[in-house]
Amino acid sequence: MNHPDWNDFDLATIAVRAGQRRTDEGEHSEALFCTSSFVFKSAAEAAARFQNQLPGNVYSRFTNPTVHMFEDRLAALEGGECCVATSSGMAAIMATCVALLDAGDHIVAATGMFGSTTQLFKKYLTRMGNPVDFARIDDIDDWRSKITPQTRMLFLETPTNPLTQLADISALAELAYSHNALLVVDNCFCTPVLQRPLELGAHLVIHSATKFIDGQGRCVGGAVVGDKKTVGEDIFAYLRTAGPTMSPFNAWVFLKGLETLEIRMKRHCESAANIAMRLQLEPAVKRVYFPGLAEHPQHELCKRQQSDFGAVVSFEVEGGKEAAWRVIDSTELLSITANLGDVKSTITHPASTTHGRISAEERSAAGITDSLLRVAVGLESPDDIFADIKRGLGE
Ligand SMILES: *Cc1c(COP(=O)(O)O)cnc(C)c1O
Repeated sequence: MNHPDWNDFDLATIAVRAGQRRTDEGEHSEALFCTSSFVFKSAAEAAARFQNQLPGNVYSRFTNPTVHMFEDRLAALEGGECCVATSSGMAAIMATCVALLDAGDHIVAATGMFGSTTQLFKKYLTRMGNPVDFARIDDIDDWRSKITPQTRMLFLETPTNPLTQLADISALAELAYSHNALLVVDNCFCTPVLQRPLELGAHLVIHSATKFIDGQGRCVGGAVVGDKKTVGEDIFAYLRTAGPTMSPFNAWVFLKGLETLEIRMKRHCESAANIAMRLQLEPAVKRVYFPGLAEHPQHELCKRQQSDFGAVVSFEVEGGKEAAWRVIDSTELLSITANLGDVKSTITHPASTTHGRISAEERSAAGITDSLLRVAVGLESPDDIFADIKRGLGE
């Protein structure tokens, strides 16, 4: 079968079809190659494969056919030339930094990122000789002011979690280009269904496949998408040497996840918008954070940059921590956990969990108040999700 040019197809089609390579068995679904190594027909073939003179598999830390199918499918979805899969989202970020930065190269990263990402930059990359400064995600002048002659990378995720602030990807891409730096976007919250950062000028896209790509909370994995040289040569070379590669079983689960990504994201977004609107009408709710609401300060940017508004709804209740905890403790359906991107809706109190280890001053500077709750909206009926939240609201 010829491989079509996926640019000619809609996203839902790419998500189901791109990347599949069938074996001679004629399997309809993607095959799972659970094997650590591969055998050769002769000594000469072994030698040629090891020396990269012949294409083909050698060892699953380097390449694996199931992982390869996942990589090709995700690359097509993001509109990138090349993708490499990693053992986790964090491994994707680490591999990107270690493969591309020299000691002394400076990073400007967004405030309000995933906690482990911030920690990775602050604690480990700084120690390895890559100083990092943080810029307010929605303030291009702040980004500009943090850039030094040593800056090689701008790093962000958008929208932020839990407050749903957006970065203007096109504006930041221009800024990065003009300073000869790379713009790296963690696209975990939007997935290519809602946002395609490479089309907006980003150099690289990072994924935690653990979230919406799996979509059912089963496996941990990650990926980097971008151009052939940066991803297919530089980051791939690091991965095959250092080893944080994706397991074939996880790649197979993620392939199945991608097949339903478009339809799931639509439903996640529809339900989130429904719940945000209803929360706004509740007298016990002080403020709702959701980019789909006209009052959201970046509502217009969100409409330009994303095809839908996402699945995270945060809100402040009247009455502080006690009132917020009462909402959580009154739920019968929602899972009390900080995970997201799952069919199961989750509820969390950021100030005492995900943001519990930073100081009270840092928290209030970041806008994480004691009365804030975050719901990652899953695929249960929105009526049931809302009723579960409402039970603990007010008296
Ligand atoms: C979860 C997450 C990560 C880390 O991914 P893992 O697969 O857990 O390593 C990175 N970025 C964002 C935005 C995330 O939500």
